[in-house]
Amino acid sequence: HNHIDHATVEKVEAAIAADDTHAHVPDYETFAAYEADGGYATLKDLRANGDWEAVQAKVKEAGLRGLGGAGFPSGTKWGFVRANEGPRYLAVNGDEGEPGTFKDRYYLERTPHVFLEGMLIAAWAVEAEKAFIYMRDEYPAVLEILRREIKALEDAGIVEAGYIDLRRGAGAYICGEESAMIESIEGKRGEPRHRPPFVAQVGIFGRPTLVHNVETLYWVCKINREGPECLNSVEKNGRKGLRSYSVSGRVKNPGVHLLPAGSTITDIIEACGGMLEGHTFKAYQPGGPSSGLLPASMHDVPLDFDTLQPHGTFIGSAAVVVLSDQDSARDAALNMLRFFEDESCGQCTPCRVGCEKAVKLMSEKKWDQGLLEELSTAMVDASICGLGQAAPNPIRLTMKHFPEEV
Ligand code: SF4
Repeated sequence: HNHIDHATVEKVEAAIAADDTHAHVPDYETFAAYEADGGYATLKDLRANGDWEAVQAKVKEAGLRGLGGAGFPSGTKWGFVRANEGPRYLAVNGDEGEPGTFKDRYYLERTPHVFLEGMLIAAWAVEAEKAFIYMRDEYPAVLEILRREIKALEDAGIVEAGYIDLRRGAGAYICGEESAMIESIEGKRGEPRHRPPFVAQVGIFGRPTLVHNVETLYWVCKINREGPECLNSVEKNGRKGLRSYSVSGRVKNPGVHLLPAGSTITDIIEACGGMLEGHTFKAYQPGGPSSGLLPASMHDVPLDFDTLQPHGTFIGSAAVVVLSDQDSARDAALNMLRFFEDESCGQCTPCRVGCEKAVKLMSEKKWDQGLLEELSTAMVDASICGLGQAAPNPIRLTMKHFPEEV
């Protein structure tokens, strides 16, 4: 169960206030260093004489897709937003609340300006009047870096003061869902909206809004600075591109690993230096708790968008958790449902009541599989948003692949 450790938050905030050197902020590439390395030349060039459709074509050629987990083609999204009359907005989803995901933090704590330039390129492409960054509040170092570096951009005249509006999330997982995030930016309770209309048509304060994840914008910058080849020249198992896998669990070197998009769990474990001593690979979560658990026997499936659909799951934000023979698949699945029970916004009954019922049923010694299956169908069919629709994945996959445990 999540809870905010207020004592720690207060300690960190006091340290920030008391310490001008901000010793807790990791070393990162500052505006001066980034600019000296040719940073922002691409943005300035595009603003002076760029053609947004040429940039869109480049993004499409690279094969860039939404890396927050939905995998929607980024260039196509720009077209949808542009098709609606302005004023338009851009919103960056930096909530990164999917358990096991920490890739956005990884990039922001190292090269924040690659992301910021990518964001400003996308904002230019859709003629956004304003850019909102919705940042996870549990990342105090990232917030401090962004505060400093946005100020540097304003001082350098790259953006007008106030153009980038940095907002702090408040620890609600559902605010990573794009329409709930927009509600939250508007100052309301974070509850997902019905679609249509889509946020590309009716977003922040009713205006067409381009929503992108942090890492997606990181790649928008790279594609424009280095060419689409930085993504599309990598090929493995018939899949093109790269994925930032956030890996945790029973591996030797957990962390963010940038690997070909066609990597299998075997490749990922190998990139992490293998399993921990004394642990045998048993199961894995391919992309956050919404993706449930797959057994070690499915070690040869490329972990990319589209490749996991036939197996009843998806890659999402590529939050990989590796389980060993010392872990229980059943306990892990129950833990996932407890998380959804906590984080359900409560707006619709199938999800609010469904998660609670599922936790009760899954806490029994023997699962009532027929009832759990019926409940799963109701949740998938009738929930408003992805949380309730995907919450049954851990239930179904555990019943299918680990029947002896339930
Ligand atoms: Fe809220 Fe769950 Fe319904 Fe989504 S599915 S709107 S999280 S109650």
